[in-house]
Amino acid sequence: MPVVLNKALHDRPVTDLKNVGDKLAEKLHKLGIYTVQDVLFHLPLRYQDRTRITPIGALRPGLDAVIEGEIRAADVVFGKRRSLVVRLQDGTGTISLRFYHFSTAQKNNLSKGTLLRCYGEARRGVSGLELYHPEYQRLDESNPAPVDARLTPIYPSTEGLNQARWQQLTQQAIAMMAGDESLQDWLPPQVLAQLKLPPLNAALRYLHAPDAHANLEQLSEAQHPCQVRLIVEELLAHHLSLLQLRMEIQQDGAIPVNNPGKLRAQLLANLPFSPTNAQSRVEAELRADMVRSVPMLRLVQGDVGSGKTLVAALAAVAAIESGQQVALMAPTEILAEQHLHNFSQWLNPLGIEVSWLAGKLKGKARSASLSAIAGGQAQMVVGTHALFQEEVEFANLGLVIIDEQHRFGVHQRLALKEKGKLGVPHQLIMTATPIPRTLAMSAYADLDTSVIDELPPGRTPVKTLVVSDERRDEVVERIQLACAHGAQAYWVCTLIEESETLEAQAAENTLQDLQAMLPGMAIGLVHGRMKAAEKSAVMDAFKRNELQLLVATTVIEVGVDVPNASLMVIENPERLGLAQLHQLRGRVGRGSAESHCVLLYHRPLSQQGKTRLQVMRETNDGFRIAEEDLALRGPGEVLGTRQTGLMQFRVADLQRDAWLLDTVKPLAQNIIRDSAATQALITRWIGDKTRYAQV
Ligand code: ADP
Ligand code: MG
Repeated sequence: MPVVLNKALHDRPVTDLKNVGDKLAEKLHKLGIYTVQDVLFHLPLRYQDRTRITPIGALRPGLDAVIEGEIRAADVVFGKRRSLVVRLQDGTGTISLRFYHFSTAQKNNLSKGTLLRCYGEARRGVSGLELYHPEYQRLDESNPAPVDARLTPIYPSTEGLNQARWQQLTQQAIAMMAGDESLQDWLPPQVLAQLKLPPLNAALRYLHAPDAHANLEQLSEAQHPCQVRLIVEELLAHHLSLLQLRMEIQQDGAIPVNNPGKLRAQLLANLPFSPTNAQSRVEAELRADMVRSVPMLRLVQGDVGSGKTLVAALAAVAAIESGQQVALMAPTEILAEQHLHNFSQWLNPLGIEVSWLAGKLKGKARSASLSAIAGGQAQMVVGTHALFQEEVEFANLGLVIIDEQHRFGVHQRLALKEKGKLGVPHQLIMTATPIPRTLAMSAYADLDTSVIDELPPGRTPVKTLVVSDERRDEVVERIQLACAHGAQAYWVCTLIEESETLEAQAAENTLQDLQAMLPGMAIGLVHGRMKAAEKSAVMDAFKRNELQLLVATTVIEVGVDVPNASLMVIENPERLGLAQLHQLRGRVGRGSAESHCVLLYHRPLSQQGKTRLQVMRETNDGFRIAEEDLALRGPGEVLGTRQTGLMQFRVADLQRDAWLLDTVKPLAQNIIRDSAATQALITRWIGDKTRYAQV
């Protein structure tokens, strides 16, 4: 009696399948398949229909089909390339089968009068419709082979593992599932009933071998109830894994931030403006989180210029008043410095020093900063990711603010947990990249979200013009005119390659060009290859209006705030994502003057390129732009998670399946209370934690 009999399919290694040895197992492991259950969840990418014979006369280009007929002729043809052309005829028409590679034996086999059954895709060729290298078999008229009873699944595969092999593997696994080892269905029956979805085992069995009546179109669009059933489960599993990480961060308590709000009142009293309603609402949401002893995990979304910094500062002073340290991390040094500047301006009058820590801070200044952080004298620390390196120890870190980093992943959030000595720090993540609701719901299931959906009053929307670079001279004249009237302008250079060096070079060249074309104008340059001190000197000069024109690379994408700048030219905007363009454009329109953004594209523009620039011209609404970006580029690009593997799905597609998220979210809240179900679903779809973390 083999011991394996009592094991569940998720505990049985693939080697329990017939004819699966170590070598094949290794191949399967590369595809993330370790157990028999994993084999069951390796689902077909698509299907072929070999269940019926299509009359030759009914073939259409691009159609995969089984045909049968008699060979009328078979000739070697010497065209551009030598090929064997076989004319096949049935009662409805004739078609050519074309083989570029063929043996003599093969040729002799395909003689006139032979009956053949073929499978392949009809394409337009020199002799009308042709099948290139079709699969074929000879037919015996007296004993015709039956056609398939089921659709043929085509599996995602890897070298050395053919489709026939996959079918053997999955059919074996299905047979095992049919025994008393059926997989546990974790979806509650009432949910299945409500959505009219089949149980798990039935869905898997069907998808590995749909019957001849299956709706192929529905299957190819992943709309079949059996597919939807699995999609729901996969989305659920991802949701659960994020919720679980959230629980892990939150299982240790935070130190509540609870005080009369003296600093807050002072800060507000010193401001030359009052917060917008949206700012006040979001600030209240943050305060409600922070008075609890559960660590806050909140994402604040607000379009460029909506005033996220103030909201962050209000949260910061609340934590500081409770005797805690606050760390603010920005993705670039320019942005971090700007925060240093803003926070100093706001907090110094309250008697709070703002400390600085970035990678480039070295020597004595660095050790002084580190010891102030470790000693707790540094109440507010601003910097780049250097803030969270191992050697940085905080005395009592109570709040972490992460600016403009929607790409800050779950595992990084988890790591921050360790930075608080007395409790897990509250976490506030801010982004100006509006995240479409559908994406936010699934990619950020572990975060609560707040939206600042209002801009401070007195802003005039940026007017956007789409202009071909053949009219570059006119654009330069326009800059000259605007600057003569006291305005300031940006000229942004972009490059396709992600090379800071090349981009810097392009910016240098543009600077020289513009200097030649605009003699007498004060023009500055910033790019990623400059030293931090040089960069900030240039930025400061621009802020003080000593420079009229700033040539820049996309380093100024986020956060930079110079209200007097009212004109921006973006070269080759077609190279950037819409969200990025929107970010860049957000650098202007920050003052009361009417601002313009010129998108200086290079011909020829693709149809998609045209559509995208059109969207930029039509709207200033970051959410609408984000939705368009999602539709045009897909979630992987928009979230930038392609590299992290976080959002890789087997059957689900966030965009296509967005309609299911409203079902999945409450379901996840329900199931997370059952830790066995949660764990089983996560393992089933994502693998165990260690595997997940490595992706
Ligand atoms: P973002 O959300 O893009 O980070 P900022 O926080 O940089 O925006 O704010 C943009 C500008 O708006 C700053 O100059 C800031 O001082 C100003 N600002 C913020 N809130 C208000 C407000 N309620 N009224 C007027 N101006 C504001
Ligand atoms: Mg900002």
